[in-house]
Amino acid sequence: AKASGGNRFTFYDEGFEKAYRTRLRLENALLFAIEREEFRLAFQPQVDLTSVKVFGAEVLLRWHHNGVDIPPSEFIPVAEEMGMITEIGYWTLKKCCQTLSSWSRMGLKLEKISVNVSASQCRDANFYENVLKIIAESKLDPRKVMLEITEGALMEDKEKIKDLFKRFKTSGIGIAIDDFGTGYSSLAYLKDFPINVLKIDKSFIDNLEYDERDRAIVRGIVRIGEIMDMAIIAEGVENKEQLRILQDLGVNYIQGYIFSPPLYEEEFQAFCTSHNLT
Ligand code: C2E
Ligand code: CA
Ligand code: CA
Ligand code: CA
Repeated sequence: AKASGGNRFTFYDEGFEKAYRTRLRLENALLFAIEREEFRLAFQPQVDLTSVKVFGAEVLLRWHHNGVDIPPSEFIPVAEEMGMITEIGYWTLKKCCQTLSSWSRMGLKLEKISVNVSASQCRDANFYENVLKIIAESKLDPRKVMLEITEGALMEDKEKIKDLFKRFKTSGIGIAIDDFGTGYSSLAYLKDFPINVLKIDKSFIDNLEYDERDRAIVRGIVRIGEIMDMAIIAEGVENKEQLRILQDLGVNYIQGYIFSPPLYEEEFQAFCTSHNLT
């Protein structure tokens, strides 16, 4: 449609319409992704430098649809906006708890499994009960489960989230702050919320070798961790130089391509076996 009086205002925009149709198609595909078994879990090893062992893994969702892999950066935000992330989140947790149990039966014992949780998942009134139920159904020790949440989620409804975290704490479920340092929130929340782990965002790791300021930030995060009794994990570690610097700065938990990209179940098992890391 065109506005009257010439074509200075054109409402019809082919680029927009195309983007809109793509979006609708994505939403529609997401609605059926679980029942069509299009999701898979990938597991990225988390290594303890002190013992040189895989102590855990972060679970990362993979979506294979119509012959292509759609990255989480594309579908997670859509799933959040649609309200689908709640269902996807429970599916992911269930699946990873089952996988962890089956590994344990095979003799592959992981200390921790970390699962990403979107802010909107925490808004589900039964989130705590549902998480506990899923863990119990897999006969898993809740102390093996870590929930990764970004700073932004903490700011939504502070008192509610604080209560939720306290309940998780009493059950032994850990809380990690994901992408730590990249949010816009103040650091004050660190003293109010029961938090176990700070994950240093990849953006502070990327130039660690060249940028003194990034080293200063990492040093600061390590200090905070020491004082507040929180463990520090560095993510996105890609090379030996970064690894050496992190070790010098006292960061002993490492996740990144330097050890391994995220791996599918069988690959993850093979990785742990061949590196004799567990
Ligand atoms: P994230 O939680 O910050 O996950 C880390 C991302 O960095 C992953 O991307 C991982 O594959 C990537 N990565 C890890 N090590 C390296 C490295 O050394 N170099 C580089 N270049 N990248 C590295 P991925 O799997 O594409 O996931 C992107 C984001 O999607 C995640 O960021 C997370 O926010 C979201 N996501 C993934 N799975 C889930 C899920 O099950 N639930 C929710 N709510 N979000 C998820
Ligand atoms: Ca994460
Ligand atoms: Ca992260
Ligand atoms: Ca992220």
